[in-house]
Amino acid sequence: MSRPRILLSNDDGIHAVGLRTLAEALAALGEVWVVAPDRERSAASHAISLHQPLRVRQLGPREYSVDGTPADCVYLGLNHLLPEPPDLVVGGINHGPNLGNDVLYSGTVSVAMEGALFGRGAIAVSLCLPDSVRGRTLEAVDFAVAAEFVAKLADAVVAEPMPPGVLLNVNVPYLERAGVRGHKLCRLGYTDWADAVTERHDPRGRPYYWIAGQRNGTDAIGDSDNAAVDDGYISVTPIHYDVTDYRSFTYARHLALAGFDRARDALGDVTLPHPVHPKARRRS
Ligand code: MN
Repeated sequence: MSRPRILLSNDDGIHAVGLRTLAEALAALGEVWVVAPDRERSAASHAISLHQPLRVRQLGPREYSVDGTPADCVYLGLNHLLPEPPDLVVGGINHGPNLGNDVLYSGTVSVAMEGALFGRGAIAVSLCLPDSVRGRTLEAVDFAVAAEFVAKLADAVVAEPMPPGVLLNVNVPYLERAGVRGHKLCRLGYTDWADAVTERHDPRGRPYYWIAGQRNGTDAIGDSDNAAVDDGYISVTPIHYDVTDYRSFTYARHLALAGFDRARDALGDVTLPHPVHPKARRRS
C-alpha cells in the first residue's frame, strides 16, 4: 500500500505541543496534513460554524489554521483542503484526559468523530495531564509515549480498516515510560465533577460564573477507561456515533404512551450490526 494520508487536528490549537509531537510521530508513517484551530477550543465538542465566515491561513505545504472549531477544521479538511480523502483522521494529543462522560464535551474526540462520520478511520488521543501540570508551560511535558502508541495504533488501523462510523478513543496515563503497564480495551466510565459552578462578582458588582469543577473521583466500573488509566494502562475505547441505547429498548416499549402501539418496531432485543454507512464506499 502507498503511504497513508493522515488528517491531524486538535482542540488545543495548532501550536500545541501535543499536536506537534504527534505530527512528527505520524510523519514516519504517512503523509500528514494538519488543519487545526488557530487558538485553544477545548470543550468545543462537535460545534460547527454555520452562521459566520471561516478564515483559513496556510502555514506550510500541508498545514492550515482555521479560526473555527475542531469540527470546522476537519470538515474543511475533508471537503475542501485535502486533494484526496485521508485514510485516517486523528485528534490530539490533547493536553488532558478525555475519559468517560467527558467525551461528550471533548473537541479532541469530535475531531475523530467528524472523520468517522465521513467514513474514515479515526483516532482520538489524550494525555491525562493532572490539572496542576495543565496550567503551566507544556514544553517540558513528555508526549512521546502517547505519540509512539498512536503511531503504532494508526499503522494497525490502516492495515485493518475500522468499521465505518467508529473511532478509537485513547487515553494515556501521565507516567514515566517504565510505569505504563500496556494498553487495555475499555468501556466509557463516568467522571464525577463536584462544585461545578463558582459565582464571583465583577468590579461593578454584577455576578459572573465559572464552570470549572474539581474531579470528585471516578466510577467503580472495573473495565472503564477511568479505571484503566488509574491502574497505569493506556485505555482504548471504540465509540460509534450511533448512541442508541440498546439496553433501554424494553423500557421504552413498555412506557404507557397511548397510540404508539400501532407501528410495532422490529429492532429486537440484541445489539444491532453497524448501520449501513453510505460514505464507507468512498474509502480509498
Ligand atoms: Mn484540549
